[in-house]
Amino acid sequence: MENSLEGGAPEGVLVVGAGIIGVCCAIALREAGLSVTLVDRGPPGNEASKGNAGCLAASEITPMAAPGMLWKVPRWLLDPLGPLSLRPAHLLKALPWFLRFLATGRTETVSRLTAGLAPLSQASWELWPGLAERAGIADQITTKGSLTVYETEAAFQADAEDRALKARHGVPHQVLTAAELAELEPDLAPRFKRAVLFPRWAHVTDPYRIVLKLLAHALELGVTLESGEVAAIEKNGKARHLRLTDGRILAGSKVVIAGGVWSKPLCEALGASVLLESERGYNTTLPTPGITLNHPITSAEGKFVLTPLAIGLRVGGAAEFAGTEAPPNYKRSDALLTLARRLVPGVKEEGAVQWMGHRPSTPDSLPVIGRHPADPKGVLLAFGHGHLGLTNAPGTAALIAALATDGEPPFNPAPFIVERFAS
Ligand SMILES: Cc1cc2nc3c(=O)[nH]c(=O)nc-3n(C[C@H](O)[C@H](O)[C@H](O)COP(=O)(O)OP(=O)(O)OC[C@H]3O[C@@H](n4cnc5c(N)ncnc54)[C@H](O)[C@@H]3O)c2cc1C
Repeated sequence: MENSLEGGAPEGVLVVGAGIIGVCCAIALREAGLSVTLVDRGPPGNEASKGNAGCLAASEITPMAAPGMLWKVPRWLLDPLGPLSLRPAHLLKALPWFLRFLATGRTETVSRLTAGLAPLSQASWELWPGLAERAGIADQITTKGSLTVYETEAAFQADAEDRALKARHGVPHQVLTAAELAELEPDLAPRFKRAVLFPRWAHVTDPYRIVLKLLAHALELGVTLESGEVAAIEKNGKARHLRLTDGRILAGSKVVIAGGVWSKPLCEALGASVLLESERGYNTTLPTPGITLNHPITSAEGKFVLTPLAIGLRVGGAAEFAGTEAPPNYKRSDALLTLARRLVPGVKEEGAVQWMGHRPSTPDSLPVIGRHPADPKGVLLAFGHGHLGLTNAPGTAALIAALATDGEPPFNPAPFIVERFAS
């Protein structure tokens, strides 16, 4: 029936997007006693949350734009195996994002953003075990830390400031010799001069399994799932309506926009601009790699990660700026695999599966979590988690639940407000 109210609860919360962020928000809102409807246009968990590297990377509290990065960008763009690519057709559209990104790389800005992100990361790290326990997925998470490996002393020294900044915010690390690394990871090629162990890091069996299990837990708690594409968010007296593209309307008292990179048009239609780009990432999963890694391994020089998932060894990384519509360029996955062979030379590649996903990235690497300025009581924002959506989902959800119930925020919410893009 066209334009009739067909779903939602008048006092309930409507969450747009059933990726890891929307699902975790739905759980936290439900646990706070609210009635919740989760809406997604596609199969739940099927976008960025499906194929990521599966890391709870709570050590990663510094923004992507590092001091001095400006000078590396041209070299990266020219290198076919480099970590960064930009399709020329997308350059003009992404220019405001890039200008802000480059401005972020100043030392004092990096310090300020790290101070903002660290409490979200800390809260999420503390919340993950309880959430996993309640959802019955504690056995899907391995907490052994991660290793960053360095082929040159120069690359190790270049990261010294980043390690020091993390340490100032309580993120521990341990520097390892080549011999200590070989003992921990005997299947790695003996080419590394140094390694750093970050204990505050876990990895999951399969990120897709995690988001689906969390969704099942949300449904058990009484969350309702609706299939449909949200075209508009409307205010109607005390109610908020989601107008779906098929003509249906869902009603509630609040809306949470958690649509990943597709949140931008919904947020901007209500009058708050946001710098949000798809930072397309690629990976290849090798189901029977024939080698064993005990930790996720980050190549400092190659800027990619090897994660030993239960479904195989996942080789992932890359940052490609080409918008959400351009088809994947799996040469990026091939390039990552070429780099990975240097780390694990004997790796078996039969049955390899390639994947591309859209990281919802802001130029300052902080997500947008907070109230929509045009409708602070009715519309909450939870998107833009970039490289760290799986990592920071529980802390995000806790803040959203606090805002929805006018409760005490679990950490300082100021760094995450969308108004930071207004200037
Ligand atoms: C290669 C790669 C590796 C990564 N590795 C890691 C990692 O190891 N650790 C980590 O923490 N993070 C990692 N990330 C980042 C992480 O995957 C994302 O930050 C996270 O998945 C974002 O979750 P989300 O719920 O915001 O978005 P998504 O998972 O993209 O979900 C958004 C959902 O909203 C729905 N939606 C959007 N608009 C609408 C609408 N109008 N109507 C209805 N539904 C809508 C979509 O259908 C989708 O299901 C990685 C990302 C990539 C690409």
